[in-house]
Amino acid sequence: MNTQKRHEIFTRLSSLNPNPTTELLYTTPFELLIAVVLSAQSTDKGVNIATRKLYPLANTPELILQLGLEGLKQYIQTIGLYHSKAKHIMETCRLLVEQHHSQVPNTREELEKLPGVGRKTANVILNTAFGHPTMAVDTHIFRVSNRTGLAPGKNVSEVEQKLLKFIDKKFLLNAHHWLILHGRYTCKARKPSCPECIIRDLCEYKSKTQ
Ligand code: SF4
Repeated sequence: MNTQKRHEIFTRLSSLNPNPTTELLYTTPFELLIAVVLSAQSTDKGVNIATRKLYPLANTPELILQLGLEGLKQYIQTIGLYHSKAKHIMETCRLLVEQHHSQVPNTREELEKLPGVGRKTANVILNTAFGHPTMAVDTHIFRVSNRTGLAPGKNVSEVEQKLLKFIDKKFLLNAHHWLILHGRYTCKARKPSCPECIIRDLCEYKSKTQ
């Protein structure tokens, strides 16, 4: 795909939604961190149902530690892999209190040392909580990047590097939200909604739906 097409894709996505953000509910970097850890292989809607009840009672590392492992599980048991996620969250809270004055660190290196926080989660936190122009490639972004020809790659790392290289800097901060939302609601996994797609004429996917 050429530069002009890429530019036009983001021009259209940005005009449709000038201020995109995550669909996870949060008010602080810590709430976002816990929500992103919970969202691995789960839906944002499912995570929001759980955190709507959890956060009014416990939305700091100290309060979650006070809740205890079993107490935390009561709130997140509807979410997939909740046993291991609960353990990661408790350990993360302990490290935040002991090593980071109960604050979420804003560097990749420190974030990735927290249990349950891999590169993708760190990218989401850096981007959405701290305004870094990172690219958190999830299943939606991977699919959209390959289908459209925007940044084809065999794995998430290749797609991430290409997106960072190819996307115009002025779009980079919001690009990951635009691509996730486009993949979630339009360029869906099973049946993309090509007839209603605002970038249909720019997309290079050969099997567009009619
Ligand atoms: S035209 Fe179809 S395949 Fe291409 S981005 Fe739009 S929905 Fe996805």
